Amino acid sequence: MAAAASFTIDKEGQAGIDAYWEYKKIVGDDDKGKLFTDAEYEAYKKKWIPIRMKNRIYVGWHNPEKDMDCKLIGPETLCYCGHRYINHKTDFEKIPNPIKQTCRNCACDNYHYIPRNGSQPIRCTCKHFPDEHNLKHPYGCNRCASGPKKCGEFKGSFTCDCGAPTYKHIMVKETKEQRIKRGKPVGRDVPYQAMGGLTGFSSLAPGAERRDPSGIGPNNEVMGGAPIQPGDHPFLKMHAFSLPDRDTPETQQLQRREGESELDYFDRLYKWKQKKGYFLKH
Ligand SMILES: [Zn+2]
Ligand SMILES: [Zn+2]
Ligand SMILES: [Zn+2]
Ligand SMILES: [Zn+2]
Repeated sequence: MAAAASFTIDKEGQAGIDAYWEYKKIVGDDDKGKLFTDAEYEAYKKKWIPIRMKNRIYVGWHNPEKDMDCKLIGPETLCYCGHRYINHKTDFEKIPNPIKQTCRNCACDNYHYIPRNGSQPIRCTCKHFPDEHNLKHPYGCNRCASGPKKCGEFKGSFTCDCGAPTYKHIMVKETKEQRIKRGKPVGRDVPYQAMGGLTGFSSLAPGAERRDPSGIGPNNEVMGGAPIQPGDHPFLKMHAFSLPDRDTPETQQLQRREGESELDYFDRLYKWKQKKGYFLKH
């Protein structure tokens, strides 16, 4: 039979998948690849979730001239060292000052974002790639460490969506209080690991397209938020929203209202989805 490939999962199977997905979001690699027992999982949650909700580090790659987070860092965002944010230290029982997020997989001593050109790493002005440079600040080049063209610091001139070159950006790592003080969105407290700067619907959009105070700011257009792409973090995917029929009263209810901030809109959609049973009950 040449029917289209399809399969169905019964309710119990779906609940199992959801539970595993939630487990992965909470535990990450902290189980070192061996599933926790129920008791271990409960103990893990009891210890780490309150710490995580209280001591979350908000991480962004920031253009100070425009006061804009050009890139908000999430669990999958690659570091200068080539490893993902979730591979770095993100849970702190006590937040250190300065905040240092070492990599579990290499000698990188602090998570540090640099943009990529599509899927390709960008080059330093010395022509060498990030992985040819030192893993520690200021990331001097191993290939031209001495001589007339000595490179003592990785310096990317790749142009960001904001129009400024890479080297005009800085990493911002801050607490919830610090972020609120600066008037930037903090989203809701979530139990998941390595959420970094992701706080909602449009967090994955470049700052130059993000219409909230972390990006270029709101305008008067009615916006539904940035589209969610395949490969995006499940936390954001679960907020993904397509309006199948714009003409029913219900979907009209779900359009962004005039004067409603993006975060209020996001919040309203979240509550709606919650009511409709889109999420696991905690
Ligand atoms: Zn790193
Ligand atoms: Zn690393
Ligand atoms: Zn260099
Ligand atoms: Zn930028």
